[in-house]
Order: sequence, then C-alpha cells, then structure tokens
Amino acid sequence: MEPACVFCLIAKGQLPAQTVFEDQELMVFRDLNPMGPSHLLVIPRRHIGSLAELGQEDRDLLGSLMLRAAEVARQEGLARGFRTVINTGPEGGQTVGHLHVHVIGGRQMTWPPG
Ligand code: 5GP
Ligand code: ZN
Repeated sequence: MEPACVFCLIAKGQLPAQTVFEDQELMVFRDLNPMGPSHLLVIPRRHIGSLAELGQEDRDLLGSLMLRAAEVARQEGLARGFRTVINTGPEGGQTVGHLHVHVIGGRQMTWPPG
C-alpha cells in the first residue's frame, strides 16, 4: 500500500470506483476518463509501480492480469475485438504509478498509437 497512490486507495475501498470485478489478487474498474464506449482498468491489489518492476516471481500474477483482461472484455460484449495497453514510465505515457492493464473497446481502434 502506497498512501499517495490512487489505485491503492481504490483497491482498499477508500476511493470510490465503478468496480466490475474483484478478488483477493485483482480489481477491475471503469476508467474515469474513458477512451471508448468500454474502458476498464485491471490492477493488482498489491502495489506494483509498473510492468518494469515485475520479476520471475510475478509470472502467475501477470497471467492473471491478462486472462482477467480477456474475461472482462467478454463480459463487456467486446466480441469484435478490443485494445489492451500497459503504459510504462514517463515516456511510455504512464500517469498513475500502479501497474494497470487498459481494456478499451466498443469502437474501431487505429494503429499506430499516438
Ligand atoms: P496511464 O496513463 O497511467 O496508463 O493510465 C491511467 C488511467 O487512470 C487514465 O486512463 C486515467 O483516466 C485513469 N484514472 C486516473 N485517476 C483515476 C481515478 O481516480 N479513478 C479511475 N477510475 N480512473 C482513474
Ligand atoms: Zn498503488
């Protein structure tokens, strides 16, 4: 738990969020500033700063994050496809320093990203 981390606060129920899934390991909630009709964030409850901080011991957690991303996409009805994004570090566009997987869908995505 990082006291100043907004996603730690959400994980502890100390900051409200539109939660769509939670278990002991993970939480999924709606992004405050959605980039599409569906925009979910999948986070570990435990504070991890970014993808760059994960090690071999986190293989199961990483698998859970990605499998949950696909599962919530199914629940959202995103059968035609969706975008998963993990921004890492300042140059990667990360603005919240707690690992999260974006799941964005409900519109046509384009490539390359900005
Ligand atoms: P990043 O830019 O770090 O990849 O993504 C952070 C995301 O978190 C952004 O899409 C932003 O809209 C979202 N966000 C930031 N603060 C909050 C918050 O307090 N609640 C929710 N639900 N989303 C947030
Ligand atoms: Zn945190």
